[in-house]
Amino acid sequence: MRLSTIKLAGFKSFVDPATLPLPTNMTGVVGPNGCGKSNIIDAIRWVMGESVASRLRGDALTDVIFAGSTTRKPVGQATVELVFDNSDGGIQGEYGAYAEISVKRLVARDGQSAYFLNGSRCRRRDIADLFLGTGLGPRSYSIIEQGMISQIVEARPEDLRVHLEEAAGISRYKDRRRETESRMRATRENMERVADVRNEVD
Ligand code: ATP
Repeated sequence: MRLSTIKLAGFKSFVDPATLPLPTNMTGVVGPNGCGKSNIIDAIRWVMGESVASRLRGDALTDVIFAGSTTRKPVGQATVELVFDNSDGGIQGEYGAYAEISVKRLVARDGQSAYFLNGSRCRRRDIADLFLGTGLGPRSYSIIEQGMISQIVEARPEDLRVHLEEAAGISRYKDRRRETESRMRATRENMERVADVRNEVD
């Protein structure tokens, strides 16, 4: 699986629709200070579901929408789409059969947000599920930012384990297990309630 195209519109400094093709395995982004290099990384993490504004270098989630400049008015919404080449089958499951997978997120000034998978509206959870265990995700190790290496070197063993589990592809199963356990707990509680009602009736 390889990120092959990034499309942005109204996202931070990318007010006009822009398509950034990434045709090879290595792409360098160069430019003067403040030209928007880090905004591209923010865009990738944002589509993956990042929901903490400070991790996108903003105060509110709508701060990702182009806020206007001396020559341009603010715009009403931001969209970012990532297109993945999945011809190697890196993404499995429901979407595994697709050679190309598109993931898109949109946010409007009123805070309304929507996610799309191959053009169909989906939940944030579906995007998280798609990438779980692949090493990609809003906070995964495939995006290494300034300071992250020292964070990893200094990390507590339990924090390091999270990265190792993601790399080994087992975080997907741990997540499912957590979910199943919580459902089992809820069912057990329901059964206890039913037993209480039966006791009362008897
Ligand atoms: P450096 O090399 O200094 O790290 P950079 O190329 O990584 O810089 P970014 O941090 O990606 O630059 O971009 C900063 C620019 O993006 C600033 O000019 C800032 O005004 C602009 N910017 C950020 N958010 C918005 C927004 N919501 N609306 C308009 N412009 C924005």
